Amino acid sequence: MNILILGGGGREHALAWATMQNPKCDKLIVAPGNAGIAAIAECARLDILDGTAVTEFAGDNAIDLVIVGPEAPLAAGVADDLRAAGILVFGPSKAAARLEASKAFTKEICDAAGAPTAAYARFTDAAAARAHVEREGAPIVIKADGLAAGKGVIVAMDLETALAAVDDMFSGEFGAAGAEVVIEAFMTGEEASFFVLCDGETALPIGTAQDHKRAFDGDAGPNTGGMGAYSPAPVLSDEVAAKTMERIVKPTLAEMVRRGTPYQGVLYVGLMIEDGEPRLVEYNVRFGDPECQVLMLRLGAQALDLIHAAAEGRLAEMKVNWAEDHAITVVMAAEGYPGAYEKGTEIRGLDELVESSFEMCFHAGTIADKGRILASGGRVLNATARGPSLSEARERAYAMIDAIDWPEGFCRRDIGWRVLGG
Ligand code: ATP
Repeated sequence: MNILILGGGGREHALAWATMQNPKCDKLIVAPGNAGIAAIAECARLDILDGTAVTEFAGDNAIDLVIVGPEAPLAAGVADDLRAAGILVFGPSKAAARLEASKAFTKEICDAAGAPTAAYARFTDAAAARAHVEREGAPIVIKADGLAAGKGVIVAMDLETALAAVDDMFSGEFGAAGAEVVIEAFMTGEEASFFVLCDGETALPIGTAQDHKRAFDGDAGPNTGGMGAYSPAPVLSDEVAAKTMERIVKPTLAEMVRRGTPYQGVLYVGLMIEDGEPRLVEYNVRFGDPECQVLMLRLGAQALDLIHAAAEGRLAEMKVNWAEDHAITVVMAAEGYPGAYEKGTEIRGLDELVESSFEMCFHAGTIADKGRILASGGRVLNATARGPSLSEARERAYAMIDAIDWPEGFCRRDIGWRVLGG
């Protein structure tokens, strides 16, 4: 099978690595890829938001399956263009990708599906939104409807912050994403993520994870794209997972079918769990980054079989072979991230890492330059390891970090604290 993966982060390196473990993969191209991916697959320059260009490229390269990594091409309808050309693709249509691209749409689906989530109201007018906030009081959560790279959500603990957030959202700062605003009741509990493969009708859980959004130890500092993750998430017990499937995932998929927009791809179910009861925080229509890295290390080669079956509508015949293990990934980022950071600093020591199906250093923002590896983004490396216990996995991941010589990089030292303590 010839496979094309779209994207160039740590998520896509992990997907590429798992794909290459599977003998069914004859050829792998990743667009645009990164320095780590270039070591195991061909990398191509391609505008991955341009459905026509992606479809042409897939045709020219006799691609049998396209795996879409990030949400932007999905929201742009790239999967629709590929399907229309008869090319097999893993990832939802533009219509189904609204589960991530519009928070108001997700709420509408939850209402129709009876899925538990925070109470909410929708606004297109600042004065009405302000009045609602004043009536409800704080804490309260203000969200721009559209994709805003994680910056469109304000969890306001006091009224002043909530009102300022409403003004910001309607100020035009968020462009089309802020044309509508969703205001939600504040939920308490512990957050965890549940990952489900979907082929339109059938849903197959493939793992749980918890991430670490803040930049620094002790969950201090600004929000980031994610500084580390581990799998499984103990709070998402089998019982909570079963409730999530019955109350949230299955009714959502049925509602999408009923609307004529069945969901195919991976559904990232962001949950708030309190006293064993899951409520939906958000859907994402792609793997999380860095959660994908721990899921891929745990799944290994079977990930491609599962993804292929989802794309072909054969999930009902599949099952996941679980290893009773734990995986963790620690993100190394450029000093200054998520604010301004330097690009082009050299990373040494990567060649000496001993990588295996138990420990992999997945690359995110890296480029190769005359035999050297240079940092080219904010989040740069993902030291990812698995083991029979989370503490063993963590030891391996930090041993990898300690072997990497990159003075301009930093990482959190407490990934996994919820389970293992600081
Ligand atoms: P992400 O970067 O996680 O994809 P997003 O922009 O899609 O973010 P959400 O996931 O909806 O936004 O919200 C971001 C974070 O805000 C959540 O992970 C959660 O911590 C918090 N949050 C969102 N909604 C609520 C709520 N109703 N009650 C409490 N906290 C919430």
